[in-house]
Amino acid sequence: MYIGGAEVRTNNTRNITPPHDHQHVVGHYHLADEAIVDQAISNALASRKAWADTPWEHRAAVFLKAADLLAGPYRAKINAATMIAQSKTVHQAEIDAACEFIDFLRFNAYFMTQIYRDQPVSSPGIWNRVEYRPLEGFVYAITPFNFTAIAGNLPASAALMGNVVLWKPSDHQIFSAQVINEVFRKAGLPEGVINVVYGDAAMVTKKVLEHPDFAGLHFTGSTQVFKSLWKQIGNNIEKYKTYPRIVGETGGKDFIIAHPSAPAKQVATAIVRGAFELQGQKCSAASRVYLPESSSEEILELVKKDLASIKAPGSPEDMGCFVTAVIHEGAFDKLAAVIDSAKNDPEIEIVAGGGYDKSKGYFIQPTVLVTKNPKHTHMESEYFGPIVTVYIYPDHLWEDTLSLVDQTSQYALTGAVLAEDRYALVQATKALENCAGNFYINDKPTGAVVGQQPFGGARGSGTNDKAGSAQNLLRWVSPRLIKETLIAPEDYRYPFLG
Ligand code: NAD
Repeated sequence: MYIGGAEVRTNNTRNITPPHDHQHVVGHYHLADEAIVDQAISNALASRKAWADTPWEHRAAVFLKAADLLAGPYRAKINAATMIAQSKTVHQAEIDAACEFIDFLRFNAYFMTQIYRDQPVSSPGIWNRVEYRPLEGFVYAITPFNFTAIAGNLPASAALMGNVVLWKPSDHQIFSAQVINEVFRKAGLPEGVINVVYGDAAMVTKKVLEHPDFAGLHFTGSTQVFKSLWKQIGNNIEKYKTYPRIVGETGGKDFIIAHPSAPAKQVATAIVRGAFELQGQKCSAASRVYLPESSSEEILELVKKDLASIKAPGSPEDMGCFVTAVIHEGAFDKLAAVIDSAKNDPEIEIVAGGGYDKSKGYFIQPTVLVTKNPKHTHMESEYFGPIVTVYIYPDHLWEDTLSLVDQTSQYALTGAVLAEDRYALVQATKALENCAGNFYINDKPTGAVVGQQPFGGARGSGTNDKAGSAQNLLRWVSPRLIKETLIAPEDYRYPFLG
């Protein structure tokens, strides 16, 4: 752990093991106790003034240097750490740990200048200006396992805007989080700006959310955890000096809907890439699919052919592997149970996959289920693994099916429509306007790029503050308006009085 620039060890440790080789111990991490959490918060608050007073261009320079370190000398290291920690293929590691993280850091410096540039008008005799102050207190960043870029961006974006941050990474990303910490230190991030603790998430969070100086939560993870955090913040509201900012990007049950005019090969490719890259562990991964009766057979045949060409899930060290292991035993057991229940379910047919094995790594075969029940729990629940459920609709019920997509599941993160018929695309874009924060036309629903497709969803999927945009950075500042009168009046009487 890191507090005030110093490495902190408690000697209460846990093993770090790669998901694709769970008997191979690659490291250990130390767990915080309550005293460590207190220390991390006090130290961050003691570091606050110096950092908040640091001119923005110097704050930007630190993170721009971090971006250049990641693009250059640390590129291989952060990619390798991500392959080991999160079992990403080299391609998935590169687009996440290197490309997306570098983009976050560089674009955020640019978005920050856009925010600062936004100033009010001044009428004659007056000069108005807005100062974009950091929040009064500290920001708490809680990050998920699945993206090294998100892990780095959540603390970095708040820190860039002048805040001090307490960062708690996921237990399952610590091996690559360590490289992020190394890069931040090498880039010259001053001591105490981002303090890092590991350990019992509930204990750490309870301590943090009871602190009077808690000023903001930057969370990415599951919906259930985010809701529990929001409740805790509500219960503690009387304790805080300020109303905390709450930003959370959470789960998804992301859809693909194909119109009868969609080319079968394009739909099949969107399914295979959208549902199975990173073992379906992208928040944006397709996990419910709506196919028209007329082309469903052809599309499913193509998907099966593609899946037959994919090597059995294996180690990312094998460059021929398109899918590797899911993140941990808990995830494996849950996914295996979903597959088992599907095997015994009269409403479900398993058309591809259905195998699993955890003897060496947590391997789940890419699995395609077909259901006749569009409201089946497999169409509603997020499993966060390589399982996709397909519902086949009668072609003439296209519009009804759009309503069905809108009314299924609590989430609204990503979704994709495929069609060649322009009117069908217009209909889908309108009918599905509230069921995806990121909506894709003739594409898969994954792969948002910073600066191009700002990312986030609504409903149960989050506060939609769009990571990778100025909108997100705005949540980490508290604007102060300063009005200056150039020549102050010296007589209280207004002209009408005469
Ligand atoms: P998770 O909710 O299990 O964990 C996320 C973080 O919360 C971790 O740091 C974890 O330690 C912490 N946490 C767990 N229980 C907690 C508690 N009781 N109190 C406080 N903190 C707690 O999620 P995960 O498995 O790491 O990530 C997968 C989830 O994240 C999926 O639901 C996925 O959809 C979502 N996700 C969403 C986005 C997005 O942009 N919308 C991006 C990535 C991941």
